[in-house]
Amino acid sequence: MRRKIIIRKIQEDFNCLRCQRCCRTPGFVFLTGKDMSRLSTFFRITREEFTERYCRKQDGQWALNVQPNEACIFLDTGGCSVHEAKPQQCRDFPMKWRDEECFEYCAGIRRIVIDQQKTCSVSDKR
Ligand code: SF4
Ligand code: SF4
Repeated sequence: MRRKIIIRKIQEDFNCLRCQRCCRTPGFVFLTGKDMSRLSTFFRITREEFTERYCRKQDGQWALNVQPNEACIFLDTGGCSVHEAKPQQCRDFPMKWRDEECFEYCAGIRRIVIDQQKTCSVSDKR
């Protein structure tokens, strides 16, 4: 029940706190055909060049490559260097994500969870 409330609150109240953990946490940013076209247009290169330079294969699907520290290849000190062309998976985060792990690392979600815990403990005391 509480989890359902938190998911609703994420959709209503989520604010990104720019912690960049979604771009640093080890995992896979899978790419759709549209993502690959948009990103290769962004770089003004062919799709083949794009996959060669920036992608890796996982379970037969293209995903973004990572830096030696496992951060996304497109993360730089200022944040996402391809923000306007970023993949759909990144655009959907966290509104359409349901995995437990992002509840732990995303500072914006943590804020909602903590606010919710405070609200519940106040109402429990009444
Ligand atoms: S493409 Fe941009 S938003 Fe997506 S994981 Fe990489 S740095 Fe983050
Ligand atoms: S982990 Fe959450 S709060 Fe941090 S940058 Fe990503 S979306 Fe924003």
